[in-house]
Amino acid sequence: MRSTTRHFRRYYNPSVGDAIRMDTNTNVLGSNPAAAKFLSSAEMNMNDYPNTYSDGLRDALAELYGLERENFVVGAGSDETLDIAFKTFTEWGDNAVVPVPSYSLYDYFVSMNGGKVYTADLTDDYQLDVDAVLKPSAKIMIMPSPNNPTGNAFRQKDIEEILERADGPVIVDEAYGEYSGASMIKRVNEFDNLIVMRTFSKAYAMAGLRVGYAVANLNVADMMNCVKIPYSLNMLSEGAAIAAVKDQEFIRRSVDLVDRNRGPLSDGLRRLGFTPFPSDANFILARSPIDHAVLTEGLRKKGVLIRDFGSKRRTENCVRTTIGSEELNKILLERTEEVISENQ
Ligand SMILES: *Cc1c(COP(=O)(O)O)cnc(C)c1O
Repeated sequence: MRSTTRHFRRYYNPSVGDAIRMDTNTNVLGSNPAAAKFLSSAEMNMNDYPNTYSDGLRDALAELYGLERENFVVGAGSDETLDIAFKTFTEWGDNAVVPVPSYSLYDYFVSMNGGKVYTADLTDDYQLDVDAVLKPSAKIMIMPSPNNPTGNAFRQKDIEEILERADGPVIVDEAYGEYSGASMIKRVNEFDNLIVMRTFSKAYAMAGLRVGYAVANLNVADMMNCVKIPYSLNMLSEGAAIAAVKDQEFIRRSVDLVDRNRGPLSDGLRRLGFTPFPSDANFILARSPIDHAVLTEGLRKKGVLIRDFGSKRRTENCVRTTIGSEELNKILLERTEEVISENQ
């Protein structure tokens, strides 16, 4: 194996069966209805290639944000557009700054592209430590806001300060941006180093179709489109995503549901002895009153999957759960209470 990838282990791949999934932060309302409608009646000539750069979807996004088609780079999930950013802007051996704790796949993309990960610890309340992020004068930096797995959005002024002081590209991964409401997308033309990532996997309820996009100024987006693998987004996914963009009512409904249920779920967890952290996203990180692995495994046996972050630095004994509907949260809290009482 290539030396830079020899330490790789496979990604999270649980056996799911008919378990309730509170582990992936997808939309608890189920499949995106406009996308589902498109797919059920889609007629297309699959003998043709799809549009090379998904122009139809880029036009729909341009209209949504009041930008131009050429501000967008579309890929098979934001995981592809993240990979494109590293492929476009880093040389072998370059440093990339990644906050801790944050999204585990960033290390993978940096290493896969021959880079070195330089970690920058977040502050005690999981906010950006601007000087720590800028210290290594890295070639590229990446930060999710809202952050995964902690759930909080970073302060806008800290992100702006990093953009102004950084030498290289700054990737702001807004996978949960619909939930927080805050976004840097409308400001991409102001900065020569801002790349915003978005996905259809979370609020848009289309994780199975693998669609994501990057937004940047025209010059940066053009460089990334030149590097991207042509045709990576298939026709069905592109068509479904266009339909989904045009149904913003579903997004509003999805965000409202999370807003209504976030407080009650936090309170419920606190009552069971957890310490929940503040969330601007559709999930909550919480420190468990019993051993994290016992809790996660106990819940799995009772048919509920949550995600265990308890053995990682800075999230010791913490677990992350998606914020469900009232019914789902009730099931989660009841079964959690059972696991706790069986293991005290
Ligand atoms: C879920 C998630 C993504 C989405 O990845 P896709 O490839 O678009 O499914 C990206 N970044 C973060 C931080 C996430 O949590």
